[in-house]
This record gives sequence, C-alpha cells and structure tokens, in this order.
Amino acid sequence: MTDTPAIQIRDLVKRYAPAGSGEGKLALKGVSLDIPAGKIFGLLGPNGAGKSTMINILSGMVRKTSGSVSIWGFDIDRDQRNAKRSIGIVPQEIVFDPFFTPFEVLENQAGLYGIARHLRRSEELLRAVHLADKRDAYARALSGGMKRRLLIAKALVHQPPVLVLDEPTAGVDVELRRQLWELVTEMNREGVTVVLTTHYLEEAEELCDRIAIINHGTCIANKPTRELVGMAREKVVELTLDRDLGQLPVDAAFIKSEKTGERTIAITYNKDVSNAGQVLAAVQAQGFTIVDVTTREADLEDVFVSLTSEARPA
Ligand code: ADP
Ligand code: MG
Repeated sequence: MTDTPAIQIRDLVKRYAPAGSGEGKLALKGVSLDIPAGKIFGLLGPNGAGKSTMINILSGMVRKTSGSVSIWGFDIDRDQRNAKRSIGIVPQEIVFDPFFTPFEVLENQAGLYGIARHLRRSEELLRAVHLADKRDAYARALSGGMKRRLLIAKALVHQPPVLVLDEPTAGVDVELRRQLWELVTEMNREGVTVVLTTHYLEEAEELCDRIAIINHGTCIANKPTRELVGMAREKVVELTLDRDLGQLPVDAAFIKSEKTGERTIAITYNKDVSNAGQVLAAVQAQGFTIVDVTTREADLEDVFVSLTSEARPA
C-alpha cells in the first residue's frame, strides 16, 4: 500500500457555459481533496452542491474549467487512458438499453474496454452482485434495485481499483439500501477503493471511513467519520455572566470554552461525560455569577447544518 491517494483533486473549478447571456453556473469553486486508497470515502452534500459535477469530471463526462485531477496517480489530462482504466463509475441516473440481458450488458462493456473474451468476468460479476439468476433476463424486466446492482457490476468490468457511486441509494427503499450497503462493503473488503456521494448523513455515517462535506461548490469539511460523529456527541452551553469576563473558567470536563461576547461564554462538553448542571456548578465554583443560560445539542444533522451554514468559521 502506498501513500499515493486514490484520487487527488487540486483547485478544481467548473463553470458551466451559460444557457443564454450571463456568467454561467460556477458549480465548483476551487476544490482540493485527497481521497485515500483502500477506504470507503463519502462525499456528502445537499442537492446542487456540486457532487455530480465532481464525479462527472472524474469520468470524463464533464470538462473541468481549471485545476487538476489524478486518478490512481494518473493525471486525467496527461494520462487520460490510464486514468480512465483506473476508475469505474456508477452514474446517478440509471440508463440501459432495455433489450439487453445483464450478461450482454457486461459483455458489451468488456468489448468497449477491449477485454479479450477469455479474460472477461461477466459470470463472476453477476454472482458478485447477486444477479446470476437474472443472467438472461431482459434489463427492462429487472427491478430498480437489480438495475443498480447491474450498474455496479458494469462499472467493475475492467477491474478498476477505484469504484465511484453517485447517489447509489437516492429514492431507494430501506431494504434495498441495506443490500446496496452490503454490496459496497463487500467490494471494499476485496480491495476496491469506494467513493460515494450521498445526501443522507446516516448513510455516510454507516458506510464511510472518512467524509468530506461539499456545499455550494466548496469543500467545507474533510474528516474521519469518527471525528464528525464525535462532534455530534458534543453539547454546548452558552452562559451570560453578570460582569465582563477576565479569565475564562476552566474545568477538566470542558472540551472547549470560548468567549462569545463581553459577558458571554460558550462551553462545549461531551454529553456522555458531563451535563449542563455540572458545567454550571463548575463555573459558579470559580466565582462567576450566571444570569442566563442556553444549551444546544448537536446531532450529526446539526453538525452538518452548522458546517454548511456560513455561521461558523471553518
Ligand atoms: P449535486 O450532484 O451535488 O446535486 P450538481 O453537480 O448536479 O450537484 O450541480 C451543481 C450545480 O451545477 C447546480 O447548481 C446545478 O444546477 C448546476 N449544473 C449541473 N449540471 C449543469 C449543466 N449541465 N449546466 C448548467 N448547470 C449545471
Ligand atoms: Mg448529483
């Protein structure tokens, strides 16, 4: 295993051409991101954030405006062929020729990559995505979930080290979502680096080792999932005191205390370890008189909201 990231993105900008007169949409505003090899990486962001734009630049479907991208160490401009061979992409939209069977879909894809007949793995891939019994069914007769699984198999035909799934579970029922999660985890266990985009926090939390949050074309966070989820174990109590603050109160149970105004402080603590009552007692014991108290609780949704609103500096 090397330290070379599976995907390296530097100062990536995409401005779509304007439909009429005007500027055109600035979908990516200079994103830099390293996606480590061997992991499951989540690209989390609301609709319109720029996730698909980024994925489509990786696949060559969208041309970047500026910046650079390498896949498995291959620059997508200078070494397009190797870059393309290193990645398999499952697009957000399901598109199939309805008259091909799953087996034919995979064989056709292998043909596109120039893979010799005896080296093709269509049967094996169908088994891997649990579609062996649908080998000869018409694609149009497959359920939505089966189609998604077939798309995953199709993306893996040329054995790329990196598999990218754009919103694999958007609009998918709970049962099927579970199935897809298992499949993605299996692929990763077999050594494939997985990148997936999602706007479900729960999904990113369940599946991903690391999560980057993208909003309005900017990457606003990039952390191990544990750390992001850890932020959701934190609670903040904001205190107003009766006089201007000299020094901040300190206590072993505080994760952080910061001055938010002349007479206000925000104290962050872990709700598994302490509670608001203990925090207040600790502050009073240090000679402060509290005149007002507000508390906020962060779940992952709040962490996301606070990161995606400009309220909190990065
Ligand atoms: P996401 O996948 O995160 O929902 P997209 O990358 O699809 O976001 O879109 C990012 C922004 O770029 C949106 O404002 C969207 O309307 C715009 N956009 C996407 N595709 C095009 C296009 N082909 N032409 C013009 N604007 C586009
Ligand atoms: Mg999208």
